[in-house]
Amino acid sequence: MSHHDERTFVMVKPDGVQRNLTGEVITRLEERGLKLVAAKFMQIDEDLAQQHYGEHEDKPFFDDLVEFITSGPVMAMVWEGADATRQVRRMMGATDPAEAAPGTIRGDYGLDLSQNVIHGSDHEDEGANEREIELFFDEDELVDYARADEPWVYEDE
Ligand code: UDP
Repeated sequence: MSHHDERTFVMVKPDGVQRNLTGEVITRLEERGLKLVAAKFMQIDEDLAQQHYGEHEDKPFFDDLVEFITSGPVMAMVWEGADATRQVRRMMGATDPAEAAPGTIRGDYGLDLSQNVIHGSDHEDEGANEREIELFFDEDELVDYARADEPWVYEDE
């Protein structure tokens, strides 16, 4: 593993899919130099939703969050790159779109706390990225390949 092999879990939430923002989210991450290594267009069931958002189990918004995330299809993905988890979080912007900076995905497209377009693993929660990737993908679904622009993105390639 070299320094730019960090992987992170990203998901276009049901509102993002319904509002035709899946391509926009993928484009932004691609253009940032991150590499797509897995993708699954899927409907999340209640069991998976509860596991994925397990840390929020005791919060008042938990039931609504599970209901929302299971309300329509999502695009679940794994993206790879240097500092990928933190970089995706920076591109996402604050959880509440009203607070998210313009230029971030949530700042540009988010509607409210629930309909905030995108999920990305928390970089402050050690190992959250690996746990979420494992929850959604089998190891053999992660594709190992070189992207043509890597020598430009990473000078040591
Ligand atoms: N959320 C909500 N109400 C709240 C806080 C969070 O509906 O008061 C939702 C919101 O959509 C958020 C998700 O729960 O994206 C997970 O919350 P977290 O604090 O992990 O935010 P994130 O990591 O998504 O920025």
